[in-house]
Amino acid sequence: MLISYPEFKARADAVQAQIAAACVRAGRKPSDVQLLAVTKTHPAAAADYAARYGLHAVGENRVQEAVDKQPLCTEKIRWELIGHLQSNKARLAAAHFDRVQSVDSAKLLTYLDRAAGELGKNLGVLLQINAGYDPAKFGADPSDAPRLLEAALACPHLRIDGLMTITPLGATPAETAALATRTFENLRAIRDDLVAKTGAPLHELSMGMSGDLEAAILAGSTQVRVGTALYGAR
Ligand SMILES: *Cc1c(COP(=O)(O)O)cnc(C)c1O
Repeated sequence: MLISYPEFKARADAVQAQIAAACVRAGRKPSDVQLLAVTKTHPAAAADYAARYGLHAVGENRVQEAVDKQPLCTEKIRWELIGHLQSNKARLAAAHFDRVQSVDSAKLLTYLDRAAGELGKNLGVLLQINAGYDPAKFGADPSDAPRLLEAALACPHLRIDGLMTITPLGATPAETAALATRTFENLRAIRDDLVAKTGAPLHELSMGMSGDLEAAILAGSTQVRVGTALYGAR
């Protein structure tokens, strides 16, 4: 069951206040950090809530779920894919998303570039890096990041906006928090290194979720992906 719009608005106000407070602590402008509403498992109306509130984009982690919801939405908003993408779904993803955040292989880049070209589209892309070295997570190994970026920059129909990461889960909340901070700082260092070496404008650092958005913003996040804090438990 989806919460009511007034409840969503109260939750979104609270998350925006949390983002603003973290920005003050980090000495950053609140406008430098975008809130991505993660609508996975919620009905299409969840995306309409985000649009009505004035958010720019929603995140989904399955291609088919977004394909099913989009025709039911009455408001316009940008759609971003944040979940693992298989090559055989690249064409569908390119057609239905404004940006794909989960690009972690040269093969996927090739498939997305070809699909975007055929669609006459300039598709936004983030390279997903396994900055927490989590064997259970997708994402390119940090040592492969330079090669992946080189391949990405050679794709004429893709626009490479930056990097994305998902943090590992620790055995305890304290361990999870420590791992998150280390992962965020690592992703930022990887980004800074890639920018220094290639000059590519990798402005976007998509990192931080409901439970760790403050740490992510302190480490330089430009987009936090928030589901639970906005819509309640899934
Ligand atoms: C589900 C999901 C989120 C949102 O997580 P919450 O803890 O509900 O805020 C963020 N990023 C990715 C990649 C996700 O799959």
